[in-house]
Amino acid sequence: MSQQLAGRVALVTGAASGMGRAHVELMAARGAHVIVCDLAGDAAETVAAGIRAAGGKADALAADVARPSEFAAVAADAERHAGRIDILVNNAGISGMQMRFESIDEATFDRMIAVHVKGSFFATQAVVPGMKARRYGKIINISSNFAMKGSVTASHYTAAKSALLGLTKAWALEFAPWNICVNAVAPGLVKTPLTRRSIGADENFERHAAGLPFKRLAEPREVATAVAFLASSDSDFITGQTLSPAGGDPVVGI
Ligand code: NAD
Repeated sequence: MSQQLAGRVALVTGAASGMGRAHVELMAARGAHVIVCDLAGDAAETVAAGIRAAGGKADALAADVARPSEFAAVAADAERHAGRIDILVNNAGISGMQMRFESIDEATFDRMIAVHVKGSFFATQAVVPGMKARRYGKIINISSNFAMKGSVTASHYTAAKSALLGLTKAWALEFAPWNICVNAVAPGLVKTPLTRRSIGADENFERHAAGLPFKRLAEPREVATAVAFLASSDSDFITGQTLSPAGGDPVVGI
């Protein structure tokens, strides 16, 4: 396995499960020191311990990204301990599927925005000063292909994931003078604990897969390779872009 990320420190939010776990495992295998951040501190420690057992470098960090001051304090400790944070993946997320418009109440809407938008905004604010000081950084916002093609029964989730595309473009321009690249990754449906909770049985995933160009869903690792590319020096001249490892769902753009 290439050691393309050797010497880099990567913090991934929501890294105790699903795709976040795949991101830290792949980046650690490529040489990065990873900080496994999650609301679920014990599960984050289990993931970090697994990476260390496989010969990688990993620390765990328990934090709720929707509480900016809590996140900033623990991220500052992690940065002091690791010496730097070069890569931030704003991945922490909650399910918003299978909710009809009329059923989305104010508390549900606020939590959706708090985790995805406010969480990513202030997590980025916590690590950008160090990136600016070192004149190097990679920020990857995990959006969704719903932000590109719309969704049925997930409008608050789609709004939150669309906001991340706006932040990606704004930050790409604002941070470019410090050599900080900001990009988004917008996956399609992937079978994870998050989608299990809203989509349920295997047959529901299979029905969705049957309508896709490759007739299958992505594996978490197939999203992780896109994230690892945007975290690496191979993408040093790419910023403000959205990469959709969704097997052609949807084909958009010009
Ligand atoms: P998952 O549920 O497996 O993992 C999400 C992790 O985020 C969990 O470990 C959870 O504890 C953590 N988390 C939730 N709220 C948090 C908070 N406030 N602070 C810190 N951590 C928190 O989900 P997943 O499917 O791997 O999703 C990862 C990301 O990918 C999410 O942003 C999700 O919206 C996005 N996404 C998922 C899919 C999909 O089909 N699974 C598709 C497109 C985008």
